[in-house]
Amino acid sequence: MTKGLSVKKDENFSKWYSEVLEKAEITDLRYNVKGFVVIRPWGAMILEEMYKLYEQALQKRGHKPSFFPTVIPKKNFEKEAEHVKGFTPEVFWLKKVKGEDELALRPTSETAMYQMYSLWIRSWRDLPFKLYQRANVFRYETKATRPLIRAREFYWIEAHDCFATKEEAEEQVQEDIRTTEEVMHQKFGIPFLPMKRPIWDKFAGAEYTIGSDVIMPDGKLLQQPSTHLLGQHFSKAFNVKFKNKEGKEEYVWQTCYGPAISRILASVISQHGDNFGLILPFIISPIQVIIVPIFTKQNKEKIIKEVKKIKDELIDKGIKAEIDLREEKRPGEKYYEWELKGVPFRIELGEKEIENKEATLFIRDTRKKEKISLKEIGKIKKLGEEYDKRLLKKADDFMKDRIIECKTLKEIEEALKEKKIAKVEFCSTEKEGISCAEVIEKEIGAEIRGTLGNKKEIPKGNCIVCGKKAKEVVYIGRSY
Ligand SMILES: [Zn+2]
Repeated sequence: MTKGLSVKKDENFSKWYSEVLEKAEITDLRYNVKGFVVIRPWGAMILEEMYKLYEQALQKRGHKPSFFPTVIPKKNFEKEAEHVKGFTPEVFWLKKVKGEDELALRPTSETAMYQMYSLWIRSWRDLPFKLYQRANVFRYETKATRPLIRAREFYWIEAHDCFATKEEAEEQVQEDIRTTEEVMHQKFGIPFLPMKRPIWDKFAGAEYTIGSDVIMPDGKLLQQPSTHLLGQHFSKAFNVKFKNKEGKEEYVWQTCYGPAISRILASVISQHGDNFGLILPFIISPIQVIIVPIFTKQNKEKIIKEVKKIKDELIDKGIKAEIDLREEKRPGEKYYEWELKGVPFRIELGEKEIENKEATLFIRDTRKKEKISLKEIGKIKKLGEEYDKRLLKKADDFMKDRIIECKTLKEIEEALKEKKIAKVEFCSTEKEGISCAEVIEKEIGAEIRGTLGNKKEIPKGNCIVCGKKAKEVVYIGRSY
C-alpha cells in the first residue's frame, strides 16, 4: 500500500517536495550519477502535456519546430567571448575522440544553431526567422542540485529568433513575456514577476535578460523562463547576415527564450500541492478523471460494463479518463494513490450509484464529494475549467501582498523573514550599482533580482544603500 506523506507542506516544504516527487512517482533519485534524475511515466506524461501547450503557444506566434545536435564543437563555443566565459565552468566536455573536434554537451544551443542560421538566412525576406527546439541541456551545476529545480540535465524549450531591427527584437522580448503569462500563469496557474536582471546577472552574451521569478512556498524565488536580447553579439560572431531592401548586408538582431519545462513542473508541484500530495491543473493532468469501480464477485461484470460506457462518453467529450481496474487494491487504496498523484476528478461507481443513475464525484482541490447524474457526465469538462480557475485564483492570492516596499536594510530583512519580496529604490542595476548590491548580499544574504521587465517604474528617492539618487526600483529576494 502506498504510504501517505510524512510531513505537512507548510511545516517542512523541502521534505514535502522530495516526498511528493517520490510517492507521486514523478522522479526516481536513485540513478547513479550525481545531479541526474530519472523521470518516471507519470512525470513524463505531465511534462508531455506541458510541452504541448507551450509549443502551441510558440507556434501560434510564428515559431517553427526543429531539432539540433546535442554536441557542440569547442570552436563554435569559443566564438562569442562573453558566452564562452560565462558558460565554460558549467560545460560537460566529452572525452576527446581521436581525430575529432573537442565536443561539449550543449548547456544551451546558441552556438549550435547560429552557424546554421548563417547558412539559411540570406535576405530581409527570410526575416523574422523564428525557430524553437525541445531539448535536454546539460550544465555542470556546482551548487547543491535539487530534482527538477536545479539538475545537471533538464528538459526545456529554447526559441531563437532573428530580426532586421533592434526594435523588432525588443518587441520579441516583450512577446516572450506575454507567452510566459499566457502559458505558465494563465494555463499552469503559476504567477511570476518579470525581472530585468541587473547587468551582473544577465545571460552570458546578451545585452539584457528578463527572467521570470516565481515565489516558492518557502519564500525563495525560483527563476522560470527567461528571455534575452542578444543584440548582434552572436550574429557578428557567427556571421548571420541578411541583405536589406537596399541590397546592403547587415547583421541580424537576435533574441532567445528558454522555458525549462521540467523546472516549471517543480513550480506546479510546489504551488498547487497540499498535504495529500499533488494537485494537477486539469489542463495538464494526463488523467483528468479516474474512474474507480466498486464491485463484488457477483456484480463485477455489470459494473465494469457500466464504467466502460462512462469512460467512452468522457473520452467522446474530450476528457482524458481512465478506469482503475486493479483487483489487488481496495477502492480506498486507489483513492489515496490518485489523490497523491493529483488527478483532478475521481468517479466512484458501485451498484447503488448505477441504480440511481448517478455517480459520486470527488474533487481533488476542495476534497469535496458530490453526486453527479450519469446523464450529465460531460459537464466535467466545464467543472475542469472552473477547477483550474480556482487553482489560478489561489495562486494569485498567494502572490498578492508578497511585495513589500522597504526603506531600510532592516525592513528588507523583516520582509524576507516573512517570506516576502522587498521592493526598494536603488542607485543602479548597471556597473555602478555592483558595490551596493554586494552590501545587500553580504549583510542580508539576498539578491537584487532586477527591475520590472514589462513596465518602467520611476523612483522618487535615494538608493537604500549608498543614499545617492535612485535610478531604479528593484526587487530583492533569496533564490534557489
Ligand atoms: Zn547605491
